[in-house]
Amino acid sequence: MLDKSTGKSLNAEENWGEATRLVRGGLERSQHGETSEALYLNSGFVYPDAETAEARFAGEDDGYVYARYGNPTVSVFEERLRLLEGAEACYGVSSGMAAVWGALACQLVAGDHIVASRALFGSCYQIVTKILPRFGITFELVDGHDLDQWRAAITAETKLVFLETPSNPTLEVIDLKSVVQLAHDAGATVVVDNIFATPVLQKPLQFGADVIVYSGTKHIDGQGRTLGGAILSTVEFKEEQLKPFLRHTGPSLSPFNAWVLLKGLETLKLRVLEQCRSALKVAEFLEGHRAVRRVIYPFLESHSQYDLCRDQMLAGGTMVTFEVRGGKTAAFDALRKLGIVDISNNLGDSKSLITHPASTTHRNIGEEARLAVGITDEMLRLSVGLEDVEDLIADLDRAMTA
Ligand SMILES: *Cc1c(COP(=O)(O)O)cnc(C)c1O
Repeated sequence: MLDKSTGKSLNAEENWGEATRLVRGGLERSQHGETSEALYLNSGFVYPDAETAEARFAGEDDGYVYARYGNPTVSVFEERLRLLEGAEACYGVSSGMAAVWGALACQLVAGDHIVASRALFGSCYQIVTKILPRFGITFELVDGHDLDQWRAAITAETKLVFLETPSNPTLEVIDLKSVVQLAHDAGATVVVDNIFATPVLQKPLQFGADVIVYSGTKHIDGQGRTLGGAILSTVEFKEEQLKPFLRHTGPSLSPFNAWVLLKGLETLKLRVLEQCRSALKVAEFLEGHRAVRRVIYPFLESHSQYDLCRDQMLAGGTMVTFEVRGGKTAAFDALRKLGIVDISNNLGDSKSLITHPASTTHRNIGEEARLAVGITDEMLRLSVGLEDVEDLIADLDRAMTA
C-alpha cells in the first residue's frame, strides 16, 4: 500500500535499506523468540478442526496445507528475496534449473514461439533448444548484444523472450531496456536469468523485465552447501501461472535448504561487493599478464559494452573470463599449477573456483555452438571468492609463469 502524500510504501520493511532487508526481511519469530530464523522441518500440517481444513483447501484461509505448496521457513526466504529484488512476489524452488524450467514451462503451450540469447548457461540452452521443442515450442537464438537481431527475431508470434546477462561464460551484456521494449511492443513476456549479476548488482525489474530467475546455489548460498532457486514476478503471475504449474509438478524447495539460503542472504551484499572488488583487481592483473591473450570483465574499459555495463550494473560481478596463450594445453597447464584456486564448475562461492568451459559446462552444446558465442579452447572462467586478493593474484601468476 502507498502513502498518498509521499508516494512511499506504508510497509515498513519496504522502506528499509538493502542491508537491513537482507538481515531482517520477512522475519517471523515463533513463540520461543529465537534470534535466528526458525527451521521448520516438516512436510505436513495439522488442523484444529475439519472446518479449518476445508477452508484451507478452498483457499479461504491462507494457512499451510502441505510442504509441496509451502512451508514457514521457505516463506521467510521468499519474502526476504522479494524485498531485496523489489518484486511483488517470489516463489522458492529446488534449484536454479527448476526456476528456469518453471518460469518458462508454466506459461508456454504447444505452438508458441520463443526468442532467446544464444549465450546461455548449458542447461538453459538444452531447455530452449532440445526440451521445449519436444512440446511443439519453436525458438530462435540471437546474438544478445545485437539489437538488430532481437528486432528481427521478435515478432507478433513471439510469446516469450529469455535471456541471461551477463552471460556465462563470455560475460556478454544485453541491453535490458531496449530488449524489454521490443518484447513488450510485440506482447511478449521477458524472463531474465539474473544469476551472474545477483540481485545486489542488477535489478532487471527496473528495466521493465517481467520475470526474474535465480539459482540460490550460486551467490545466495555462496558457500557451496546447497541447491536452491527462486522466481520473482508479479502477484498475478505467481498466482495464475506459477502456482498452478509448480504446486502439481513438485520442484519444491526443501525447508532446510531454504534456511541455508536465508542465512546466505544475510551476508549476500557484503560477500558480493567484496568479491567484485577482488574480481576487478584480478581482471586488471590478468590484463597486464604476458601469458594472457584477452580478459573479459564488465567493469574493465576494454569490455566491448563498457558503458552499458556501467548503466545496468552496480559493479562488474564476481566472474572474470580470460584466454591464455597456447590453446587447451596452456589452459590445462595453468589449472594444474594453481595452488589455492580450485578447479570446479560451481560459481559465486566464497572459495575461488575456476573452470575450462569448453570441456565442462559448455561441452554438450558442441563446438559449433561454442565458437558461435566465442568459447575457445584457451578460455578459462574464474569465480573470484573471498580469499585475500594478493594470494589469488600470486596463485594465478605462479600458475601462468612457465
Ligand atoms: C548455475 C546456473 C543455473 C542453474 O542453477 P542450478 O542451481 O545449478 O540449477 C542457471 N543459469 C545460470 C546462469 C547458472 O549459472
